[in-house]
Amino acid sequence: MPLELLALRCLSDNYAYLLHDTESGQTAVVDVPETGPILAALADKGWTLSHILITHHHNDHIGGVAELRAATGAQVWGAAADAHRLPPLDHALREGDNLSFGGEDVHVIDVSGHTIGHIAFHVPQSDVVFTADSLMAMGCGRLFEGTPAQMWQSLCKLTALPDATRVCSGHDYSQGNAAFAQSVDADNPALAARIAAFEDMRRQNAPMAIATLAEEKATNPFLRATSDQMKASLGMDGASDTETFAELRARKDRF
Ligand code: ZN
Ligand code: FE
Repeated sequence: MPLELLALRCLSDNYAYLLHDTESGQTAVVDVPETGPILAALADKGWTLSHILITHHHNDHIGGVAELRAATGAQVWGAAADAHRLPPLDHALREGDNLSFGGEDVHVIDVSGHTIGHIAFHVPQSDVVFTADSLMAMGCGRLFEGTPAQMWQSLCKLTALPDATRVCSGHDYSQGNAAFAQSVDADNPALAARIAAFEDMRRQNAPMAIATLAEEKATNPFLRATSDQMKASLGMDGASDTETFAELRARKDRF
């Protein structure tokens, strides 16, 4: 039985995710922007929270951790590198660590760039990766602490995962990300098709921050830093992927 995945809209544009294993009854939440929507979903489903997984130290991802831990007694897991600026951790994680959840492995990947110490959680058997503010739906996080080269290296670790992997990111920035993508990649038919589907997704209340890795590779302008078409569109024929990514990130900052 694959783990059950539930996307919860929090604050203005954040997402938290619940992951549930029917057999063991274990339930994890990835990031806690606030407790309200998470406690409501747990009550609605009749699930008991066992794990709180933290991706990075920004308040819109950890603001509700202390309160949620007090309310549920769930164990808190986060990056050892960030322990000094996270709520108290029960388990400190490093890249390559494996935690066992609901009978499946959860792999820890260092995806520094947005912050140093940002981690992603990959659950290979359930084909899902929680990327928060590293790889995002049609975008990537702003570089508050890392360099473009660091973020590019992090994105490359994520694109090495299987194409069917569902990428669950931390925010719905679909509108701004789509506008920027179109501005640099106007001749990409896959991009036009994805943007055209957004309206239906919004109408159906579909989680805007989830897409498969295959979709991201085809439409995310930052991942398209590897394509000759993108390099040409930026006037950067022959540039390296890292240089192209850095230029895209700088343009998005000014967009
Ligand atoms: Zn952040
Ligand atoms: Fe964030």
